[in-house]
Amino acid sequence: MATRLAFIGLGIMGTPMAEHLVRAGFDVTGYNRSPAKTRRLVEAGGRAANSIEEAVADADIVCVMVPDSPDVREVLAGTGGVFDTARPGTLVIDFSSIRPDVSNELWHQAKAKGFRLLDAPVSGGQAGAVNATLSIMVGGEVADVEAAQPVLQAVGKTIAHVGPPGSGQTVKAANQLIVAGHLELLAEAIVFLEAYGVDTRKAMTVLGGGLAGSAVLNQKSEAMLTRSFQPGFRVELHHKDLGIVTSAAREAGVVIPLGALVAQLMASLKAQGNADDDHSALLKLLERLNGRRS
Ligand code: NAP
Repeated sequence: MATRLAFIGLGIMGTPMAEHLVRAGFDVTGYNRSPAKTRRLVEAGGRAANSIEEAVADADIVCVMVPDSPDVREVLAGTGGVFDTARPGTLVIDFSSIRPDVSNELWHQAKAKGFRLLDAPVSGGQAGAVNATLSIMVGGEVADVEAAQPVLQAVGKTIAHVGPPGSGQTVKAANQLIVAGHLELLAEAIVFLEAYGVDTRKAMTVLGGGLAGSAVLNQKSEAMLTRSFQPGFRVELHHKDLGIVTSAAREAGVVIPLGALVAQLMASLKAQGNADDDHSALLKLLERLNGRRS
């Protein structure tokens, strides 16, 4: 019999991940706060549930992919949440990017209630979710990471167990620091190149072939050149992640000057009404700073 899997949070990332799990042979039941988003999973051969309780009732494994720490808290530890309604012993894989300390705290609650919890945030963007090529940074106990392998391999390509509970979130925070810095410098390079009127598309190709090349440049430069900022990865979520990394760095006594600067720029972009744009809209902010378009 197929392994029964509940998937909670069917947004930009959760939907393609759940679809891959159906294709990999799991019996997938999805739940999303706004019910319309279960449609694609049902079309792919999964089922839709009307509540967390209904989704997790018979599940062997529960996957979660919601935006932020309070959302994961509510889904797992809230009234009618997973810890209230799933069978003890169930393996819970949280793919969301949240605060490492919250992840760790939820792991202790899970353990006390007889659940097995992994933090398994991902990187690779929407394209990584659609192509099942995500990088997955996993925190948790060895036996649980082994039990989760069929699920992780169905949605990811590079999978690393990076340490005890919460460690996956720490690595993800570093990931978001690096991505934000790359995006900001890419935006600055584009404004600079356009000021000189060079062929920016050719410039991106040649830069991409050298030391300046990066996954950020490969995946985001074309959309930035055409000013297509539909998400992707929403500014709101990257603002959340930069809050996580700046506060975690502060707690560890680590100074991250460029990270702090780009966190302020992302916060400004959000404050200017761009929360639902793709994070590559940092280019818009830079154009405003330069007195060019808006
Ligand atoms: P998203 O498109 O906003 O999807 C989140 C989904 O979670 C929404 O469909 C939302 O439903 C649902 N949700 C929120 N609270 C819920 C609850 N209490 N119960 C059930 N469903 C709930 O966000 P996303 O881009 O998929 O990102 C999800 C997570 O992955 C975030 O932590 C993000 O930082 C991380 N991530 C994203 C990317 C990316 O490129 N997008 C890449 C790597 C990691 P509603 O429709 O009701 O709002």
